[in-house]
Amino acid sequence: MAELHTTKRVRELAAVLREAVSEQGGDLLGGDHVERLVAERVTMIAHDTTPVTVEQRDGLLVLAAFGVCGMLAARNADRREHIDPRIVAKDAADSTVQVAVPMYEAKGQPVQIGGLTVVVARKVIGMTLEALREGWWECTCERPHRPDGGCVLQDRLQHDLATRGGWVNRGEVV
Ligand SMILES: [Zn+2]
Repeated sequence: MAELHTTKRVRELAAVLREAVSEQGGDLLGGDHVERLVAERVTMIAHDTTPVTVEQRDGLLVLAAFGVCGMLAARNADRREHIDPRIVAKDAADSTVQVAVPMYEAKGQPVQIGGLTVVVARKVIGMTLEALREGWWECTCERPHRPDGGCVLQDRLQHDLATRGGWVNRGEVV
């Protein structure tokens, strides 16, 4: 983890942060200062998150959820005010790879997914749900939403997030 600040993902996050700050007229220190800050934060969060053991069928469910999140992000590419769809799309794609590859290699056996992947995966689904519920993004379910802003598509994502949160609490509401 020592060289985390030089990884592609951290550099991308730092670039997004720099862009957001400069859009608001601010300026951040040059060099790899921002990269180091981001890496430090990511490492701290990942260390607090226990890896989860994933059954193949739960893994498939979550891969489907990443697909839905990526599709929603693409559909809302221009709605960047509250939650940046570019970050969600990127993280959904990264998470898909990081869950799918170990699943493939496990040949049908349960597979352990590391803390950082779990953090990012939860964030992808959580951000998408928030954007839909708050009406910041347009939903693709094309059905009337409930008065609380929810719909069947969101309920499914919520269920997948619950699965993702523990992999033993299937069916429980978060
Ligand atoms: Zn909907």
